[in-house]
Amino acid sequence: MTTILDGKSLRDKILSELKTKLEKYDKKPTLVVILVGENPASKIYVNNKKKTAESLGINSIVINYPSDVSESELLNKIEELNTNPEVTAILVQLPLPKHINKFNIINAITPSKDVDGFTPENAGKLFIGETPYAYPCTPKGIIKLLEEYNIEISGKHAVIVGRSNIVGKPLSQMLLDKNATVTICHSHTENLSEITKTADILISAVGGKIILENMIKNNAVVIDVGIFKDENGKTRGDVDFEAVASQASYISPVPGGVGPMTIAMLMSNTVELFEKSM
Ligand code: NAP
Repeated sequence: MTTILDGKSLRDKILSELKTKLEKYDKKPTLVVILVGENPASKIYVNNKKKTAESLGINSIVINYPSDVSESELLNKIEELNTNPEVTAILVQLPLPKHINKFNIINAITPSKDVDGFTPENAGKLFIGETPYAYPCTPKGIIKLLEEYNIEISGKHAVIVGRSNIVGKPLSQMLLDKNATVTICHSHTENLSEITKTADILISAVGGKIILENMIKNNAVVIDVGIFKDENGKTRGDVDFEAVASQASYISPVPGGVGPMTIAMLMSNTVELFEKSM
């Protein structure tokens, strides 16, 4: 029997716990989100983050810049936010326009307010086994989802398809820390299906229909991170859910799996940074 990994229910449970936790404080966290340009997907993500934060009693400020904003203007704003004691968490919504060097921007965020865990200090801490101020939200959400369903990670072969800085790479380290044996695949990987078929836990973070029938081992755990719109405008994941679900022991749906967990972890990181700031 296949179990659906229900990210929505777990998100609701986590958000309700965070709300209760925040009620005991006189002060509230302040999360500042910097949004550059008019990317429709980014606007939706940022709105969701703001709405969710406000529902928990978190002060949420969105600073929207036009797409031609200069790098130095953004850097000045980040410096101002870094030194403002009221601001406890800073997030720069990616992607940024091409004329802006995203590394310069992310590196400017003070690590103790880096709610995404993307700064070199936090990423470096993760990779050397020190506790970062915050763990990247999507990988953290995936680990929480696996733990919620008591899925064994230690000793298992985890195959991650995708090697981005926001999902694949940090997730590989987090799974390694939990004693999985980890393989990372990408667009140059040869014989992808031969590798995915060896996964006890298969995580796909690509953004296209890539995990098809007969690409998984029987009873594998399948986590679908990908999100894209198909030719009919319908939201899809990387996994051909209908073809693969019956072969899996556990599978996360799109929508309703990893997406809700990512936002829950953003809120959890916001609360953790706030508590560490006191
Ligand atoms: P990304 O930076 O675009 O990386 C995509 C990765 O997929 C790259 O490592 C790329 O390989 C690999 N890839 C592309 N085509 C491939 C192929 N044919 N075979 C194997 N690997 C292939 O993406 P991302 O930011 O990590 O996001 C990935 C997907 O997850 C997107 O759909 C995004 O919207 C979604 N996402 C969802 C959430 C959520 O909360 N649900 C959060 C973050 C991202 P190369 O490195 O060789 O180019």
